[in-house]
Amino acid sequence: MQKYIPKMYKKNIFDINYEKLKNNGIKCILFDLDNTLLAVNSNTIDKKICSFVKKLKKDFSIYVISNNSSKKRLDIVANALKISYISFALKPLSFGFKKIIKEYGYKPCEMCIIGDQIVTDVFGGNRLGIFTILVEPLESKDLKITSVNRFIEKRIIKKMENLGKFQKGEFYE
Ligand SMILES: [Mg+2]
Repeated sequence: MQKYIPKMYKKNIFDINYEKLKNNGIKCILFDLDNTLLAVNSNTIDKKICSFVKKLKKDFSIYVISNNSSKKRLDIVANALKISYISFALKPLSFGFKKIIKEYGYKPCEMCIIGDQIVTDVFGGNRLGIFTILVEPLESKDLKITSVNRFIEKRIIKKMENLGKFQKGEFYE
């Protein structure tokens, strides 16, 4: 169960304590795409997110790691934010994470993943010792492929709540 518990839990990417991450030795931030940076229905990155990521780049290397296989969609994001990405990352498998580790030379303890799904983002990051931050999904609408994950996620959350290890909507850092 421990592997499903995020190290930090916030409403959205703006509420995260980045100062704390920096002080804890995090150098590289991996953002999930769908429902973390961009609503599933949307194809344009918010200006607010653009300027926010620009600011974050002063302190961190930023990448997007997405299970989405649409390069077109990821290119829109990469161009808007001027960052590199990994598409079809197959989270929670380690393939995408390890690619970043190998290519850019970060240690897992210097990395964090920010995403809206426990089953892919949090579990995938925790498995490798990457600092994990769960955010609430931007919208309740998910990609079709995500519905199975959400079903599993609901059951995991229920278990964690029963054990007193996690409470939906009770944010912490
Ligand atoms: Mg997502």
